[in-house]
Amino acid sequence: MLFVTGGAGFIGSNFILDYLSASDGQDDAILNIDKLTYAGNPYNLAGLAKDSRYIFSQTDIGDQTAITQLFQQYRPRAIINFAAESHVDRSIHSPDEFIRTNVNGTFNLLEVARRYRAELAADEQAAFRFLHVSTDEVYGTLGPDDAPFSETRPYAPNSPYSASKAASDHLVRAYHHTYGLPTLTTNCSNNYGPFHFPEKLIPLVITNALDDKPLPIYGDGMQIRDWLFVSDHCTAIRKVLADGKPGETYNIGGWNEKANIDVVNTLCDMLDQLSPKATGSYRDQITFIKDRPGHDRRYAIDAGKIQRELGWRPAETFESGIRKTVEWYLRHPTWVANVRSGAYLNWMERQYGAG
Ligand code: NAD
Repeated sequence: MLFVTGGAGFIGSNFILDYLSASDGQDDAILNIDKLTYAGNPYNLAGLAKDSRYIFSQTDIGDQTAITQLFQQYRPRAIINFAAESHVDRSIHSPDEFIRTNVNGTFNLLEVARRYRAELAADEQAAFRFLHVSTDEVYGTLGPDDAPFSETRPYAPNSPYSASKAASDHLVRAYHHTYGLPTLTTNCSNNYGPFHFPEKLIPLVITNALDDKPLPIYGDGMQIRDWLFVSDHCTAIRKVLADGKPGETYNIGGWNEKANIDVVNTLCDMLDQLSPKATGSYRDQITFIKDRPGHDRRYAIDAGKIQRELGWRPAETFESGIRKTVEWYLRHPTWVANVRSGAYLNWMERQYGAG
């Protein structure tokens, strides 16, 4: 049994779907532990309703009693922690929830996992893994000529979001060094792909473009991010879980540095091709807005370590991944409508009745 926290979110749901459909001999069942915040959308996993290898528990990772009970009941061989508050803009306006989930919640998982592991037989203790999914934003910002972030780069987080993730990474590190918990940490660049909540740049641009709304770009649009198609991130996590060395961290990136304005132009051109407007181009909807406070200028990942040590490389180029993403959004108007209207938030009531 594998525990996945935050499995109803963007990357977590892609991970669960990929994992359960992979034909690489994995026979783990998955328990998805998710509180179902606004970012958790169980419809992403509707296709697993009849799959006996998939179980869902609506639980807060900060709830010590409930998490302890789940460990005792299901006895996992590993836990992958995706659960987090993940949107930088929200962390600027209301940082409290970021500290509660990203810092205190991760601490709670570590503590419960440590106690649970101590009761296991020696071989099970050695095989147990705590994989913590984190971000490249913990490293802060890069100048135009700086080398990409490697695993030895000192942490310098600049937003409440990245500071809370940095704090959680440090706790994970400490649990390995202090208690010998077999932890693995991954720091990944910006993901994009199916099931991405449309508050983030790429799905926001696609859905606003199709709704004939403005395409907002912060500042001059020259902020640089390294983009990775989500299924490549999922493959990397599987590799790290299987072959990563306990106590190590692995940077994951797509070798795809792009300025935000170039990403938006690429999306507009792809939409012009796949779903043309009656007149003009989607580029006409681009609108520049006031920059976000403390906006990091450039992130870039050196993914050399995971490539050398675990043989991972992304399968998608930026162009092939963007095409797959735009095609997915065009094929799933009901998913988009549900998310935009908030209809997906009623999932628990529809599933189990109110109360
Ligand atoms: P997301 O916001 O789409 O999903 C987060 C999920 O966590 C949601 O399903 C939400 O309901 C759940 N959750 C939130 N608080 C919880 C709590 N207290 N208890 C249980 N569940 C809770 O996020 P995402 O984009 O899928 O990111 C997943 C992880 O990957 C995060 O840890 C994030 O920091 C990291 N990450 C994301 C990116 C990216 O580009 N999206 C890049 C690198 C790393």
